[in-house]
Amino acid sequence: MNKPQKGSLAIISGPSGVGKSTVITEVLRRRPDLYFSVSFTTRKPREGEVNGVNYYFVDVPEFERMIRDGELLEYANYSGNYYGTSAKLIDEKLSAGIDVLLDIEVVGSKIVHDKRPDTPLIFVIPPSFEVLSQRLHGRHTDPEEVIQRRLERAKEELKEVSRYDYLVVNDEVSQAANEVLSILCAERCRTSKRIDLIKED
Ligand code: 5GP
Repeated sequence: MNKPQKGSLAIISGPSGVGKSTVITEVLRRRPDLYFSVSFTTRKPREGEVNGVNYYFVDVPEFERMIRDGELLEYANYSGNYYGTSAKLIDEKLSAGIDVLLDIEVVGSKIVHDKRPDTPLIFVIPPSFEVLSQRLHGRHTDPEEVIQRRLERAKEELKEVSRYDYLVVNDEVSQAANEVLSILCAERCRTSKRIDLIKED
């Protein structure tokens, strides 16, 4: 039996403040073979964020150059800042047989899904809207005006949920991470992705 050649791509979306990063950190702890795509953004770094780890922080002219030169698999404007995924970085990993996880918002997820329809889409929701508001206020990283904009955007994003294949409620991080890991596992076992295993040499 042969080993499958290419890695698989999966997308996680969910409103800002839902705790995606915490869930993803737990997923990566338990699946260290997984590559988490570091996005490019024009947003200013929050306290504690490190360039090249959380994001590649670039200015607007540089981001717009990347758009013009076709370097991005997808990009979107979110709360006044650009966010985008490098096509080259992702392709390198997938070609090396490494599974890749993207944390991107709903506009970007649609762009990737249109280009690669077999990409599973996972949406993480909070247990309630009140909990989301509490979490955004509790992290003390953004001014009230930014929080309100993010809450408005969250309402819009929740309308997109039916387009997603999987819904994960982030009430308890380890349970949410279990669900994401189960989804990734099931996706890896799809016959369409493993058909090479039974092909004769
Ligand atoms: P934050 O500013 O809270 O780190 O991220 C804001 C939103 O941008 C989140 O919903 C996150 O999923 C999304 N995001 C992060 N990176 C990308 C990206 O490369 N492309 C797109 N389309 N969205 C992204």
